[in-house]
Amino acid sequence: MKLSVVIVGGGVMGAATACFLARDHGVQATVLERDPSYARASSSLSASSIRQQFSQPANIALSLWSLAFLRRVGEELAVDGDAPSLGLVEPGYLYLATAAGAATLQAQHPVQLAAGADVALLSPTQLQQRFPWLNTDDLALGSLGLSGEGWFDGPALLQAFRRKAIHCGAHFVQADAVGFATAGDTVQAVLCRDGRRFEADAMVLAAGAWSAPLSAGLGLRLPVHAKKRDVFVLDTPARLPGCPLVIDPSGLWFRPDGPSGQRFLAGAPPREPWPGDPDEPPLADIDHAAFEAQLWPALAARVPAFEALRMHSAWAGYYEMNSFDHNGLAGVMPGWRNAYTACGFSGHGMQQAPAVGSALAALVAGGSSGAPALDALSPQRLLDKRPLREANII
Ligand SMILES: Cc1cc2nc3c(=O)[nH]c(=O)nc-3n(C[C@H](O)[C@H](O)[C@H](O)COP(=O)(O)OP(=O)(O)OC[C@H]3O[C@@H](n4cnc5c(N)ncnc54)[C@H](O)[C@@H]3O)c2cc1C
Repeated sequence: MKLSVVIVGGGVMGAATACFLARDHGVQATVLERDPSYARASSSLSASSIRQQFSQPANIALSLWSLAFLRRVGEELAVDGDAPSLGLVEPGYLYLATAAGAATLQAQHPVQLAAGADVALLSPTQLQQRFPWLNTDDLALGSLGLSGEGWFDGPALLQAFRRKAIHCGAHFVQADAVGFATAGDTVQAVLCRDGRRFEADAMVLAAGAWSAPLSAGLGLRLPVHAKKRDVFVLDTPARLPGCPLVIDPSGLWFRPDGPSGQRFLAGAPPREPWPGDPDEPPLADIDHAAFEAQLWPALAARVPAFEALRMHSAWAGYYEMNSFDHNGLAGVMPGWRNAYTACGFSGHGMQQAPAVGSALAALVAGGSSGAPALDALSPQRLLDKRPLREANII
């Protein structure tokens, strides 16, 4: 008999897990997704960038493994010879620091090198030589990813996992999960709003920013909250050759988007207060005033050529923010024999979905995976009060 697994949530985490379960372990995976249009899912509203510049080696390991997977995604996720194309580019991330932040970059550098990240520290003079369009007047240091960092088409990755999963026998069902039928330490079935019940040998909770209330039904409310992020799409006549994804000391970020070289994405640290309700306020509620009053002036201060930019459009989405330590929660749910989760990735879940999906599928199926083990991300750390705090949250 095939092992059967029901997954709640069909975003990139749920779809990746289903794909690896079906493809690599012969598991019968059923994914319950209440909105197949993914209108509010983080996975369809993501900036979909990948980096190695984390403070935690566990995050670097997951992103390095995922990067290798993304580079060969055409072979990994092809269906009947039709290979997905994600447009992965690797211009790097550039973290900038004033004198106040330089010590942090310096302290993280050996950690990143030891974990296999290809990063270099650059002085203001080196920054100026490499990026002549950058205002370095107030800067003391930069940390640049020399390879293995960039961006890709995240929604296309979600669809590629979904398509491959279905090709390998997984079912995606439109259903709104509301709770679980349990006996002792075992989840027997996922219960849905319309009365349907999905029985399985194991259950994976991957409902993104909506995971907390469902997890409460398992006796442990995961500290995962919706945090709204605005992304602005900018047009500019400026040319910024070699532009990486830049993280300013103020917290704002920008990166090129698309092949023209004249379109950029940008954002700033989110508005308070949070946590928000992932169903409210409407995602269309973009903070245009903050763009005009704060983000644009800050962009132009860092890159004088941005004086002439024009806002093309904007969108907003929710981070599934883990308020405990800003890292994913992945592994077995404490106290349960057959309940697992993958949620709370706090703004770096798109890039880690390949590694997390592969490792979690192996854990659930009792098989093996080449991906890094998920021990560091285990939800058990919530009960042990051992945070795995990630300092580099964008
Ligand atoms: C603006 C923005 C920028 C980002 N930038 C980056 C980036 O540059 N790099 C990066 O790595 N990550 C980034 N992220 C984060 C990344 O997109 C997320 O970590 C990732 O997409 C999370 O995937 P998920 O599957 O856990 O959640 P989701 O994609 O939200 O999927 C969860 C799914 O569960 C479904 N669901 C919820 N409740 C139920 C229920 N009761 N029953 C059935 N289905 C349910 C939802 O409909 C949803 O489709 C960004 C996110 C945002 C919003």
